[in-house]
Amino acid sequence: MSVVITNIGSLVTNDQNLGFGLLGEIENASVVIEGSKIAWVGPSGQAPAADSKIDAQGKAVIPGFVDSHAHLLFAGDRAKEFQARMKGEKYSAGGIKSTVAATRAATDQELEQNMLRLVREMTRSGITTFETKSGYGLTVDDETRALAVAAKHTHETTFLGAHVLPEEYSGNPDGYVALIVDQMIPAVKPHAKWIDVFCDRGAFTVEQARQILVAGKAQGLLPRIHANQLEHGGGVKLAVELDCASADHCTHLDDSDIDALANSQTVATFVPGAEFSTRAKYPDARRLFDAGVSVAIATDCNPGSSYTTSMPFCIAVAIRDMHFSPEQALWSATMGGAKALRRSDVGHLSIGASADLTILNAPSYLHLGYRPGVDLVSTVIKAGKISYEGNK
Ligand SMILES: [Zn+2]
Repeated sequence: MSVVITNIGSLVTNDQNLGFGLLGEIENASVVIEGSKIAWVGPSGQAPAADSKIDAQGKAVIPGFVDSHAHLLFAGDRAKEFQARMKGEKYSAGGIKSTVAATRAATDQELEQNMLRLVREMTRSGITTFETKSGYGLTVDDETRALAVAAKHTHETTFLGAHVLPEEYSGNPDGYVALIVDQMIPAVKPHAKWIDVFCDRGAFTVEQARQILVAGKAQGLLPRIHANQLEHGGGVKLAVELDCASADHCTHLDDSDIDALANSQTVATFVPGAEFSTRAKYPDARRLFDAGVSVAIATDCNPGSSYTTSMPFCIAVAIRDMHFSPEQALWSATMGGAKALRRSDVGHLSIGASADLTILNAPSYLHLGYRPGVDLVSTVIKAGKISYEGNK
């Protein structure tokens, strides 16, 4: 079964062999989808025939967003904490504990329904690939069941037992690290691709993070890390040392961190929703682009510090406050996310890539930043099938 999308006003392929600039743009383009893959890309008038046709009516088409950082397995919300913070209270890692209590009390079905509600929101924002972490169970059973639920819906599942020290291990971090290494990693392994640690003030130290990530790697999990969000620390350098696919947050970086990233395969993932929602100072992405670091933008959707599922919102904030150019922001939310998940099949519209794309209700991707807060998602296609049709 093939489909041709014709009359695309502006197509972003992220393939510089297909079009111009960083984004491989083509004007007046067509795309042919064969089954779940991209089969042909080129000028509108030259498209081969297909079984069916979608007329894009001059709108822009972009690759589906790849959200490489989210926390969707939880119960409850923390609106009151947000209220207190907006009245002047400071964000700390400790608020996670209230979500842990609610998550432990929830059934598997409740966790799954809440996750799927958020995934539907993501789809409506144009996200076609998402990662999700555990990290609100913090017992062997609760971490395992959360990841078993997640693995039913995404390949990108991340074990984040080292999110925060649970109450019952208060004063005994070594005991909790031992529980993670000896019991949690073997238990979650069938359901997790990745292992992650919140390495920051109030969470886990660099030494603890190294111990946990090395243990996960030894069991076949791939490492990624939350680093340098709340203060400058050694998390980013640890990410490079252990060949983490991504170092996430990167709010506080010095030149030596940027040098280390630039000489590595580790992606720096920015999460604009977190600085926005905690009213923190924004990092400056220009420093990383100038140094040649690969950058991703992710939602960090979680109930405490970034309760958004909207990649267009994150792109708008990244452009406005983190000094991404509009093309860098779109690249980072698509190709950057794919690199942060070490995926080559998504994030771009090259021949043979997964047919994951979004028709925007706008003539250009520039409108994602230019029209902040406006729903511009017209049609979302994932693996060749329409997964959402919205505002026309
Ligand atoms: Zn996170």
